[in-house]
Amino acid sequence: MQFTAQLPQTYHTLDAADELKAFRTLFYIPANAKGEEVIYLCGNSLGLQPKTAEQYVQQELNDWKTLGVEGHFHARHAWYGYHHFLSNAMARLVGALPTEVVAMNTLTVNLHLLMATFYRPTAQRYKILIEAPAFPSDRYAVASQAEWHGINPHEAVIEIAPQPGQHHLHTADILQAIEQAGSSLALVLFGGVNYYSGQFFNMEAITQTAHRVGAIAGFDLAHAAGNIPMQLHNWNVDFAAWCSYKYLNSGPGGVSGVFIHEKHGNNLGLPRLAGWWGNNENTRFEMLPDFVPQPGAAGWQLSNAQILPMAAHRASLEIFDNAGIDRLRKKSLQLTGYLEQLLLQVNAHAGGNAFTIITPTNPEERGCQLSLLISGSNGRAVFDRLTQNGVVADWRKPNVIRIAPVPLYNTFEDVYRFACLLQEALQQTAG
Ligand SMILES: *Cc1c(COP(=O)(O)O)cnc(C)c1O
Repeated sequence: MQFTAQLPQTYHTLDAADELKAFRTLFYIPANAKGEEVIYLCGNSLGLQPKTAEQYVQQELNDWKTLGVEGHFHARHAWYGYHHFLSNAMARLVGALPTEVVAMNTLTVNLHLLMATFYRPTAQRYKILIEAPAFPSDRYAVASQAEWHGINPHEAVIEIAPQPGQHHLHTADILQAIEQAGSSLALVLFGGVNYYSGQFFNMEAITQTAHRVGAIAGFDLAHAAGNIPMQLHNWNVDFAAWCSYKYLNSGPGGVSGVFIHEKHGNNLGLPRLAGWWGNNENTRFEMLPDFVPQPGAAGWQLSNAQILPMAAHRASLEIFDNAGIDRLRKKSLQLTGYLEQLLLQVNAHAGGNAFTIITPTNPEERGCQLSLLISGSNGRAVFDRLTQNGVVADWRKPNVIRIAPVPLYNTFEDVYRFACLLQEALQQTAG
């Protein structure tokens, strides 16, 4: 493999100096058929299982087994107010007050619930601005919200795409689109990190500009939560939602997180779609006819808490608390920077034109993920060869491979080995 030997093997030193390296041992790393650990670079799609998740879920199963309905009040972690066990750690991840966050439902459901409160179109102000390409579920959600209010989604939904020939958005263009929509704009619903390009948007500037024109600023943080530290409260974001199964490692279909700024959370008069779990906790089980919302994000809960997925989430959030999102970010900048550096060498070796990294080069404008747009028609073949060689990555049509080295469990060696295998795959599929 003389081809791959040309990449500098600096990963030994980098891994040795990594103060977070022990965290990898807290996770199960999937193995291939030969029993060797795969190179898992897909934590942006489904995070790995914390070893403690099983025990946390088992605890709830045991309490259910031995206590039955009494578990609502007598389980070790009483189910009645289970969301409280998650709020502090969630708040630290996204820069919120504990009362501004709650774990409930799943992501797309929560986007709809939040829009029920925060998208209240009038004849004058009814437009929704989203990024392009937005995740399909988000597009469906905003278009169907408009339709549900009797508005043609083609008139209501404004999509802002990168300029021709470019792969990510300029903040100035986003802000200009907001200004342009002006008094017709009801809602900006943007990603924190775009799922496709990996671009991290300037959420504070977007929020400020949305507010200046009188619109609400909401964010889908599916690819940002657990990836990049945020300051949702200080940035004055109106609302946000995210899933917990990507960077937050809480398992398939895991519970979603919601942020509602306290200025809205304390406004008990806000219209909302209500359910009994959002009722004042002191009277929830009195079954009174009139809904009295709890203050804070918890007042948007609808149903009985999903204890089993929330137990897995609790296990994962404890790990995040121990590592600290700022330390994780520090390692992430290094790890993704190292990936970028190796990729540029691989590309130079292949003639400089084998692929384009479509993620911003400025580390402040991205998280873990780098997205590679393969230039030739061999994209799928490259991806398949990587898969055969034990790399778990992610393929997006038409020609993009998404790579996400995650600071909690990926090593610099993972990144190095990936770069070598990419080089090999490019060589073997060129034609
Ligand atoms: C992963 C993801 C989703 C998925 O939504 P679910 O309701 O959890 O299936 C939605 N939007 C974005 C931006 C995502 O990245």
